[in-house]
Amino acid sequence: MKLKFPLQICLLVFVAVLMQACGSQSNTCEVCGYVAMNGDKCQFCGNSVWTDASGESKEEYVKTRQQEWFFTPGMETNLYEPEVTDELTGETFLKDSTWKPLITEGAL
Ligand SMILES: [Zn+2]
Repeated sequence: MKLKFPLQICLLVFVAVLMQACGSQSNTCEVCGYVAMNGDKCQFCGNSVWTDASGESKEEYVKTRQQEWFFTPGMETNLYEPEVTDELTGETFLKDSTWKPLITEGAL
């Protein structure tokens, strides 16, 4: 029984750290929806996070870039592909399940 208490504390600390890591900072790219942000730039689609300086509203900014990114002439686009691998670096990125595109597949 002596070991039970410290073990519970360790577990609590671990869960707290984990929750903080997940909740405080989002690494999801608003444009492509993959967890691929490195600082303010996406490592997968190469887009940066929206700032006031872009001169567009955030919605406009994300929408335009999503259209550019997902529109491939003659190809079917899956906005929700759960996992992608960068052909150049071999790095794999996962889709954020809470991400929602501003464009619809029908509008492509
Ligand atoms: Zn991206």
